[in-house]
Amino acid sequence: MMMDAIKSNELNRGKVYEWLDKYWEGGERPCAVCHESTWAISAEPVEVKSFRWGKFTSGGTMEIFMVIACQTCGNSHLINALATELMEIQE
Ligand SMILES: [Zn+2]
Repeated sequence: MMMDAIKSNELNRGKVYEWLDKYWEGGERPCAVCHESTWAISAEPVEVKSFRWGKFTSGGTMEIFMVIACQTCGNSHLINALATELMEIQE
């Protein structure tokens, strides 16, 4: 998928809720670390860039993720927002 097909820098909330229902027991899945169910979804997607030893780079591979973080212990999960179509994409 081309990066310029992304319509906005926000997650598609409808798609996020669909994803949570399908894969995260509607947000009720217990945390594997603390066994609570106090998940929060990042307000914005985050990006992870390829590692370049000792250099700040603007190029290279970049992946975009939704963060699901446990509000009790901090255990966090990165869900690839492009692979799961959680971004708003230009039709
Ligand atoms: Zn936890």
